[in-house]
Amino acid sequence: MFSKILVANRGEIALRIIRAAKELGIRTVAVYSEPDKQSLHTLLADERICIGPAPASESYLNIPNIISAAEITKAEAIHPGYGFLAENPRFAEICEAEGLVFIGPPASIIQMMGDKNQARRRMKEAKLPVIPGSENVIEDFQEAKKIAQKIGYPIILKAASGGGGKGMRIVTSPRQLEEQFSIAQSEAQASFGNPALYLEKYLISAHHIEIQIIADNYGNVLALGERECSIQRKHQKLIEESPSPFLDEKTRKKMARAAEEAAKTIGYKSLGTFEFLVDNQKNFYFMEANTRIQVEHPVTEMLYNVDLVKEQIRLASGEKLSLDHSLRPRGHSLECRINAEDPEKFIPSPGRIEFLVLPGGPGVRVDTAAYSGWIIPPYYDSLLAKIITHAPTRQEAIAKMHTALEMTTIVGIQTNLPLHLKILSSSDFLSGRYDIQFLEKFLAQGKGPRGPKT
Ligand code: ADP
Repeated sequence: MFSKILVANRGEIALRIIRAAKELGIRTVAVYSEPDKQSLHTLLADERICIGPAPASESYLNIPNIISAAEITKAEAIHPGYGFLAENPRFAEICEAEGLVFIGPPASIIQMMGDKNQARRRMKEAKLPVIPGSENVIEDFQEAKKIAQKIGYPIILKAASGGGGKGMRIVTSPRQLEEQFSIAQSEAQASFGNPALYLEKYLISAHHIEIQIIADNYGNVLALGERECSIQRKHQKLIEESPSPFLDEKTRKKMARAAEEAAKTIGYKSLGTFEFLVDNQKNFYFMEANTRIQVEHPVTEMLYNVDLVKEQIRLASGEKLSLDHSLRPRGHSLECRINAEDPEKFIPSPGRIEFLVLPGGPGVRVDTAAYSGWIIPPYYDSLLAKIITHAPTRQEAIAKMHTALEMTTIVGIQTNLPLHLKILSSSDFLSGRYDIQFLEKFLAQGKGPRGPKT
């Protein structure tokens, strides 16, 4: 086992990793940007090193400074968390070259999955069903038109190097495709440094359901159930739950086995998430794989009573997978992402938290780096806290979440707490009848925070 690791991240996930490391008896090194000097991850690690000014490109994405920090502090491994450098194959490669263990899969797997089109092809070869679409990157509009004609509109244009819900365009006609194709290419170039596009059939009223995979360095792979992530705005997740109220036992098992098999075929290592879209007929299609810990991992942890981050560190140190198929999920778990943002205009709301009361009680977990008096810097993403509940039934987990959200008090900044309460009270959510279109429709119908009771 390692004796010291460096955490190359900030916010709640950095704190989450520091806690896991401390419990394993590992010393921790925090890296921080200038405005994060008083952030909890900086304060609670055993050692801390400033890696640059506010912009992420000069601090949390600054590979030379992070590697130097690891070398100066004699850390043996680096945990990248999610976002920032977590899915950067070059970073993983540099770590390996410098003799530092990158806590995640090998660079070659990150590279393959990071090219979403290549990942699609590889997964198809590994016998996972993929959404009908292009076989390769599409060079020009004419080629896109031909493929779209074959699979039928609507289609979705995607950036091969896209991520974070960005770089996607829904197209409903050949004319729109002609208008959008070159715009999408230049956008992909500007946002991800790669203009390559591919296209897929756009599945209406589908579900985003993902399978948690955990694998050691010796070919042992285990799927730890699914997470239903269809409550999204602008392709970004807001609420996740498990088990999915939509899946039946047969499909659930089929998806888990399919993800396990695919992971084995490609020699997957560490934690990973295989994301699928599931249509009305419960056909599932591989969408992409995330080669890191996910924001929503606590949902699985609560359900299976495991600590995924500790497992991830153990596996990276060379231990064998100690979990097996005898592990059973228990009850129901739900996560609400609390963002520091205007709940109606969805613009970030950074600033000083004047007063903070967080919920608690049996079956309530809060993952956050927020505290009273902390100034949320405007430079990074707006995720402020994750509230997770766990109870024997879905109904009880929702009731618990409702109480937890009502008891959460955050003064000084705006948050999306009122939106969560609205969603949680809606009849569609309560009955478990929602898909990836739900939230956009809900908001378009004026049922958001200021809308009437539903
Ligand atoms: P990212 O990596 O940017 O998060 P994903 O490929 O995971 O992108 O897609 C994010 C979301 O976009 C999905 O959860 C889903 O809501 C929507 N989406 C992506 N592909 C399709 C598709 N073919 N049909 C319908 N919705 C899609």
